[in-house]
Amino acid sequence: MIVTVDGPAAAGKGTLSQSLAQKYELAYFDTGMVYRAVGVMMLRSGRDLSDVPYAEKLAEELTFAKMMEISSDKEFRSARGGQAASIVSSYPGVRRRLLDMQKKFALKPTFADGRAAQGVIYDGRDTGTVICPTADVKFFITATSEVRARRRFSEFKERGIDTDFETVLRDVEARDERDANRKDAPMKPAEDAYILDTSNLSIDEVFKKAVAIIEGTVK
Ligand code: C5P
Repeated sequence: MIVTVDGPAAAGKGTLSQSLAQKYELAYFDTGMVYRAVGVMMLRSGRDLSDVPYAEKLAEELTFAKMMEISSDKEFRSARGGQAASIVSSYPGVRRRLLDMQKKFALKPTFADGRAAQGVIYDGRDTGTVICPTADVKFFITATSEVRARRRFSEFKERGIDTDFETVLRDVEARDERDANRKDAPMKPAEDAYILDTSNLSIDEVFKKAVAIIEGTVK
């Protein structure tokens, strides 16, 4: 079974995807990792992030194993790493070179320890539209910008990052605006995606809804 989970930042894609992967014993591919890997390699190289040909070269040479190795870098999940990922992910040549690696994962999905899996949960903004348009079930997870900013803000607080709600909300809105206008990977649901608005739902309610949809769709 292949399931895709798309949607804007902080809508709850990662949480839902990981719970589904666990329930159905499927591999999990967080596709943001491919852009984070290229972003971190750019930072390590000391090159300017605007060096598109170099970012393309790094994307061309990226393998799954290399991505996993880079994921232990302390910058991988940092704000700086996220910013670098966001910049390189806006280069069409970089996206094109990372397509194959993401698509091929569905042909031979594996768990983190290398064991073969029977399918995959893809997490990422273009997984239902570009990476795997033939997925068995597609979700588009969304929530109002206020709710997403509140979730992000609590996350930052938990991690001890000093910021205020207004700044986080402004960032979420600015990112939505940029995302909506990106020609290469516009933020929109696939035509056959189930849209889940999580604004007034708990994590558990979202999970239960998704499970009910999967079980009503995949026999
Ligand atoms: O989801 P995450 O924050 O790890 O994504 C890192 C960056 O990669 C984000 O800026 C996001 O917009 C971008 N990305 C993308 N396409 C995907 C997944 C992530 O452009 N399928």
